[in-house]
Amino acid sequence: MLPFDYAKAQNESDAMQRGRAPGAAFVAGGTTLIDLMKLNVMLPETLVDINGLPLDRIEGLPDGGLRVGAMVRNSDLAHHERVVKSFPVLSEAILAGASVQLRNMATTGGNLMQRTRCYYFRDTAYACNKRQPGSGCAAIEGFNRIHAVLGGSEHCIATHPSDMAVALVALDAVVHIKGTDGERKIAARDFHLLPGDTPHIETSVQPGELITYITIPASRFARRSAYVKLRDRASYEFALASAAAALELQGNQIRSARLVLGGVATKPWRSLEAEQLLTSASAGEETFRAAAEAAMKPAKPYRYNAFKIELAKRAIVRALATASAVRAEG
Ligand code: SF4
Repeated sequence: MLPFDYAKAQNESDAMQRGRAPGAAFVAGGTTLIDLMKLNVMLPETLVDINGLPLDRIEGLPDGGLRVGAMVRNSDLAHHERVVKSFPVLSEAILAGASVQLRNMATTGGNLMQRTRCYYFRDTAYACNKRQPGSGCAAIEGFNRIHAVLGGSEHCIATHPSDMAVALVALDAVVHIKGTDGERKIAARDFHLLPGDTPHIETSVQPGELITYITIPASRFARRSAYVKLRDRASYEFALASAAAALELQGNQIRSARLVLGGVATKPWRSLEAEQLLTSASAGEETFRAAAEAAMKPAKPYRYNAFKIELAKRAIVRALATASAVRAEG
């Protein structure tokens, strides 16, 4: 780890001013950043500590939605009564990620900003376009078992690591950002970027901009929702394939649906093809399997990760079946 300066942000505008300086990075829970600093993968010159900012509240909105401060800890969000009852996919996704200790530290904003687990990204001995633009990608011809089958490019096939972000996309969440030029908001589905030929640019956040809170609207499908994560071991492991499903049902007919994948794509992957197929269809195994086939049709496997395609289909079918069985009344 290289030496760095440390500054404690006094308020939001102080944080943004300091965050704009070249080589500055915000630190909140530090669960990704400090690891990567130890590995010499991220080398900030100044850490701007935002833990003192008053962004740690979860508030109900008049329409039944939620406003979640960027500094809300993952554990607090996962166990919040309104989240458990009205947005179960979010609670389940967070609890499927990391360990209790990490969830107690990790924040909502930091979770959105976490970096990939690609082993070549985390090892400076290897070429990696994400870590060092233009250096190449060791994964494409290398051991790519954990890599993406959706959304990759010839420059990067790293999977996006967050479970929480997958659920937020399924819930039509909106990310609110503040910069020295003002405030703006981005739909969670547009927050993360495809790698294309700039894999080092991962999100829509500009230097010095601060995620302040996330809003989750009330919807007819949020309550009947579920998250299924398949991985190499039962806990403290990243997804090989995951699915967030949300359904609005009338009787057995699907009125609307959300289906978003994790672990198989370079960003939280919403499948509009699958959602279209689900809408107006009858809920059941046959429909769910057809949706899974539609979702994974664009998949492009590499040498070691073709197994993810069938794995993702099974995660999708199980997530849809679980969501359809949720009692949405009461
Ligand atoms: Fe780097 Fe992406 Fe290639 Fe991994 S997949 S080595 S993160 S460029």
